[in-house]
Amino acid sequence: MITSTGGVGKLGKFSTNKIFTLGYTSTTPEELLQIATERDALVLDIRLKAWSMAPRWRVEALQELLEKRYIGMSFLGNLNYKSGGLTVLNNPERGLELVTRYLVTGGDPKSVILLCACWSHVTCHRLVAAKLIAGETGCEIEHLYGSRKEGK
Ligand SMILES: [Zn+2]
Repeated sequence: MITSTGGVGKLGKFSTNKIFTLGYTSTTPEELLQIATERDALVLDIRLKAWSMAPRWRVEALQELLEKRYIGMSFLGNLNYKSGGLTVLNNPERGLELVTRYLVTGGDPKSVILLCACWSHVTCHRLVAAKLIAGETGCEIEHLYGSRKEGK
């Protein structure tokens, strides 16, 4: 009898690993590290360009902070992030292939945190990316928020 609650996706892989999402404007670097460590999760930076006005959210700073947990994943960046039009993912096929490997089929599969800047997941392309990955893998989605309030 199958009792797993991880679900089964098209790949037929069972996994209790999760697809988390997080906007860094709701958190701090220290808190992000804590969130990722507690869940033993990889942080996939799905911004089209891993750059920010704030130096602490640039690729170099995040690599130093998160070390091996940090993975740039611009394949799942939104080509329309500047225009504000409908979400168009950069290269969803390649992104999906890689994320599936990290999440369920790799040698040491882990939960993943899809990281963008946007405070809310509702209007962020991370929702589109998370649903895409969930549809393929059957893994559950959980939207995380840090301790910073919106607009602060
Ligand atoms: Zn976003």
